[in-house]
Amino acid sequence: MTPKIASYLADHAPATPCLVVDVDQVELRFCELEAALPLARIYYAVKANPATPILQRLVSLGSCFDAASWEEIRLCLDAGADASAISFGNTIKKASSIASAHAAGISMFAFDSDEELDKLAQHAPGARVYCRLLVQNEGAEWPLSRKFGTSIAHARALMLRARDLGLDPYGLSFHVGSQQTDTAAYEAAIGRAAMLFTDLASAGLDIRMVNLGGGFPTRYRDDVPPIEQFADAIGRAMTAHFGNALPEMIVEPGRFIVGDAGVVSAEVVLVSRRGLPGDHGDEAGAARDPMRWVYLDIGRFGGLAETEGESIKYSIRTPHDGAATGPVALAGPTCDGADILYERSDYRLPLDLASGERVELLSTGAYVSTYCSTRFNGFAPIEEHYI
Ligand SMILES: *Cc1c(COP(=O)(O)O)cnc(C)c1O
Repeated sequence: MTPKIASYLADHAPATPCLVVDVDQVELRFCELEAALPLARIYYAVKANPATPILQRLVSLGSCFDAASWEEIRLCLDAGADASAISFGNTIKKASSIASAHAAGISMFAFDSDEELDKLAQHAPGARVYCRLLVQNEGAEWPLSRKFGTSIAHARALMLRARDLGLDPYGLSFHVGSQQTDTAAYEAAIGRAAMLFTDLASAGLDIRMVNLGGGFPTRYRDDVPPIEQFADAIGRAMTAHFGNALPEMIVEPGRFIVGDAGVVSAEVVLVSRRGLPGDHGDEAGAARDPMRWVYLDIGRFGGLAETEGESIKYSIRTPHDGAATGPVALAGPTCDGADILYERSDYRLPLDLASGERVELLSTGAYVSTYCSTRFNGFAPIEEHYI
């Protein structure tokens, strides 16, 4: 937690659950990535946190933007981004959204299928297009599965068709999966992309860009490699495959830029002990069950969607840190049985923790505010404070 967030929480005690984001920390991470990968252009993945103060700060730093919808494009334009700095990076786009983006001057689009290419040729004629490759997501704690990207052979055919359709076959992209902790994932993906890139260039295409996607990790409960380690691996792989003829490089970080800039402040609603099967319903029986259930006023539906499968493991601060702890299961406040954050991930919290107290979930700046449901069980969406 940054000192600025700590004093904001201490001075204002804003109503919970709330997300407090230190926009200076966003700037710090942007500059860190820029320094580590000076040859790459940064397209911030807007979906990680599309709040206007973040977009405005990134505009002032000269960032470009990876938008997934016409709505996200509008947010970027409203925050002052130039149309030429925005990529429409979703491979799944409504024809009407493509047309709106084209009319607004957006000229860079992702695709990974024949039908999407037809839509682009029709609604964004002449646009720069890049094809997304399917790559391994091993090592990613929030993998993106087989929903996106296509095979090398299909991508080759698509890129040649793009030219025949009057589009500009600009480059290739991939995404190694979010919260990627293994630098080797980038090296393997670059190898795949480079092979096809070289092949397409010798087939006469004016291909000139490689988009390395996002995936760079944030530190949650466990350590992750520093960004320099990813940058080194990427630099070495690019040089090994392209030599001095480096193509334009793009990265699309989301989580890395905003993840550790945010803190969720929440209230403990209930701490309960259940007892074990065979107990007689007395207090002594309940005390034999070491596992307490701690219910917070934020859960899976309040924005902590990435706890699904206990994938993203947030660090939790309490007023009793340093005192004796015991095992806990953590859950949200709703009536849905799926609204459990952690049951199997060995979370321990202080034995003194009681209802009414506040806790903080660290590094919650990415993929929280927008995953919040609007009114499930009547709970209001999470309040956001950008400082
Ligand atoms: C989600 C996404 C990103 C950002 O991923 P992070 O893991 O948050 O860095 C980048 N590019 C695309 C195409 C995405 O879908």
